Amino acid sequence: MIKITLVAGARPNFMKIAPIISAIKKSQAKGIDIQFRLVHTGQHYDKKMSGDFFEQLNIPEPDTNLEAGGGTQAEQTAAIMVAFEKELMQNRPTFVLLVGDVTSTLACSIVAKKLNIDVIHVEGGIRSGDMSMPEEINRIVTDSITDHFFTTSEIANINLRNVGVEEERIHFVGNTMIDTLYLNKKRFFKPRGSQFEDLKKGNFIMLTLHRPSNVDNETQLKAIIETILENTADFPIIFPVHPRTALNLKKIAINYERLRMIEPLTYLEFNYLVEQSKGVITDSGGVTEEASVMNIPCLTLRETTERPETIELGTNELVGTNPEKFKPYLINLLSGNWKPYKGIPMWDGKSAGRIVDKLIQLYS
Ligand code: UDP
Repeated sequence: MIKITLVAGARPNFMKIAPIISAIKKSQAKGIDIQFRLVHTGQHYDKKMSGDFFEQLNIPEPDTNLEAGGGTQAEQTAAIMVAFEKELMQNRPTFVLLVGDVTSTLACSIVAKKLNIDVIHVEGGIRSGDMSMPEEINRIVTDSITDHFFTTSEIANINLRNVGVEEERIHFVGNTMIDTLYLNKKRFFKPRGSQFEDLKKGNFIMLTLHRPSNVDNETQLKAIIETILENTADFPIIFPVHPRTALNLKKIAINYERLRMIEPLTYLEFNYLVEQSKGVITDSGGVTEEASVMNIPCLTLRETTERPETIELGTNELVGTNPEKFKPYLINLLSGNWKPYKGIPMWDGKSAGRIVDKLIQLYS
């Protein structure tokens, strides 16, 4: 019997594990002896950053919640590690499956490996090269102790080969976040409320910001938002505010009618708006992937990316964080002059099935 412990902790994890759970259930229905236990670390705990995704994406209730949210990077990492070690000692699996690059990914990989349990990393191998990003540290540490890597891009495969990972441990399967996107596209819906009533295809812009480098410094945050407002004519800007960003937004007291600051949206509402928008301005990783596949222009307010395929083959442009430098991209966005989506290999909605088939082959 294969016993999997699946870990999810923060918003971008939920879209990545949902199709893996479905694929496991399909294998079970075919009579394969495979079981899973879902562990929520509690890294994101409020309804808008966690609970809503379970409901909308039909993710089963977690078997356990470690309730290790809040605190500094070290406090959170430590709390997750202590609780996850107890969890694994009580329920020892065949392997632990981790997704993405959040604190939970890093913390749980260390705990599993020290208990001599195999670590599977979905979305392994991606690198921004920017060691000031907590996510980059999470990626490097997790990948240094991963047994099998499921990768989203040829660049991730190359990054792994370059550090000596053997070919038989690298499995190029595509992107499970895009599985979720294709599966749910028909269910996207317009949020209710006065801020959304006048929104029509192409007459507004979406904005998300949550990277510490953009939102922790009040001057930088203010400069970014003001440059966007100054260069987007009279387009409404829909800005679902990440909890991390909310604190500093209050301090800079920005108040423009055209900037509609709202609570984080549910997955189906957020992607409805992305698909209907003129374009997306973001510093998220996942959003650049979704916008690319939906053929919506995407401006990434960062200096580096771990997802260069979204630039080469998708609709994403790495525009930097210097307002003077990203201004011309806003002008291009408004003029409608943008590169189309060319298709990214393996991002076809079938990645989770490939992962589970491979795991069954490896661990049966
Ligand atoms: N997302 C959402 N509601 C929002 C903003 C984002 O459902 O208000 C989704 C988005 O569609 C994507 C994921 O959250 O699937 C990206 O998460 P986030 O930007 O927090 O993390 P990152 O991808 O940067 O790690």
